[in-house]
Amino acid sequence: MAKSASEAVAIPPEVLAKYEPVIGLEVHVQLLTKTKIFCGCSTRFGDPPNSNVCPVCLGLPGTLPVLNKRAVEMAMRAALALNCTVQERSRFARKNYFYPDLPKGYQISQYELPLATGGWLEIEVGGAKKRVGITRLHLEEDAAKNLHEGFAHSAEKAYIDYNRCGTPLSEIVSEPDIRSSEEAYAYLTTLRQIMLYTGVSDCNMEEGSLRCDANVSVRLRGSKEFGTKVEVKNLNSFRYLQKALEYEIERHIGVLESGGRLSQETRLWNQAEGHTVSMRSKERAHDYRYFPEPDLLPVHISAAWREEVRRTLPELPAAKRARFISTYGITPYDAEVLTATRALADYFESVVRAGAPGKAAANWMQTELLRRLKDSAKEIAESPVSPAALADLVKLVESSQITGAIGKKVFATMFESGRAASEIVAAEGLAAQVGENTIEQAARDVIEKNPGNVTKFKAGNEGVFQFFVGQVMRATHGQANPQAVNNILRKLLS
Ligand code: ADP
Ligand code: ZN
Ligand code: MG
Repeated sequence: MAKSASEAVAIPPEVLAKYEPVIGLEVHVQLLTKTKIFCGCSTRFGDPPNSNVCPVCLGLPGTLPVLNKRAVEMAMRAALALNCTVQERSRFARKNYFYPDLPKGYQISQYELPLATGGWLEIEVGGAKKRVGITRLHLEEDAAKNLHEGFAHSAEKAYIDYNRCGTPLSEIVSEPDIRSSEEAYAYLTTLRQIMLYTGVSDCNMEEGSLRCDANVSVRLRGSKEFGTKVEVKNLNSFRYLQKALEYEIERHIGVLESGGRLSQETRLWNQAEGHTVSMRSKERAHDYRYFPEPDLLPVHISAAWREEVRRTLPELPAAKRARFISTYGITPYDAEVLTATRALADYFESVVRAGAPGKAAANWMQTELLRRLKDSAKEIAESPVSPAALADLVKLVESSQITGAIGKKVFATMFESGRAASEIVAAEGLAAQVGENTIEQAARDVIEKNPGNVTKFKAGNEGVFQFFVGQVMRATHGQANPQAVNNILRKLLS
């Protein structure tokens, strides 16, 4: 690994522990509108370069922007889901800078009057929940994309694809409330999940529809003052964000411990070399000369419109988790797995609606279905086993018509063939060897022959129960389903 002398020294844990990291994230999400924010061009990803452009998004003189109402609505959805106050009046501003990916010479963004302010997002790290404040959420247009590879003259020049220019973005700025790289990771994944639930963005990091810049500083624990912050860019994945922050936190502590001072700057994460490099210092930072956009009216959002949008919000992940735990009696861990996406949560509820007990449905989905989907690189929507079909299998096992072990084999066949559980069981003669009637007969015999133990059990000696189970299993030559034996004995002994 490349390292400079000052960065190479490993810092002892007790020294690291003296400091507290302070982190704030700026996240850009691409809004899932069909057309761009100020013109009618398509926002489709992956089209041939410069095929979705017009005089407006190319910034030709004499053209005027027209605000896309759907973009405002989507930003509002995002803002409401993040507990922000949607402002009745917000305004666009010009952010001026010169770069080839910005044909007008300015980006239309929002500055002093953002669309929404003062929200929060709840994260959970190591079992502890905490709220991270959201300073603001505003609307802006995306820039074009510079292409440095893959074209005839890529060696001498850069190419520009203006398809992305004018795609609507929401920038979401957090308060400096984040205190570790793990919390930063949790914030970004939670934010992404909420954006996906609300359908505001597809949050595809590889395609650039979710982008994150991290601001980080450190201070001595107990100190009220913030330290000098550094902005880290080029964080193309959740893991890079966490790694870059870990690196940067140690670097800051190293500088301070050796008596140095940090400079406010922007740095780039270099994943290949595992470190950050300075991109520009704050002194050389841009002065964007913001001013109100004269070509667009201020945005007015009536209370009625806002409430209409609020009504269309889906149940959000945290509320869904809590409801799953209380309604279906599943564990917090199960609830987290099953609410990872709306599609997964809907699948689970369909299995339960088709008659499977919640706990059993949760287990079968996690141990069998999710594993097989993962192995075959399939989404839940592509599952060869429908919720109703899985419910039928779960019911066969729950009623002891087949054993759990057989159930797993049946599931494998269902997944491969798409056939129904009952059909597979019948065709392959898999029904449990010992029917419920036989088990019940054996249980009655055992109870009748052991009145002493029955008395003990009724007096509260729970340990005796296993004796009965063992006797019934022996009487059925170990072929009975233990769960069925348990259920029947409980019924007869109560
Ligand atoms: P700037 O003026 O450089 O844009 P802002 O105050 O607007 O800075 O904050 C930008 C981001 O940096 C926000 O997410 C905020 O939470 C975060 N931030 C601000 N101060 C600090 C700090 N001292 N340490 C870490 N993050 C910070
Ligand atoms: Zn256009
Ligand atoms: Mg700022």
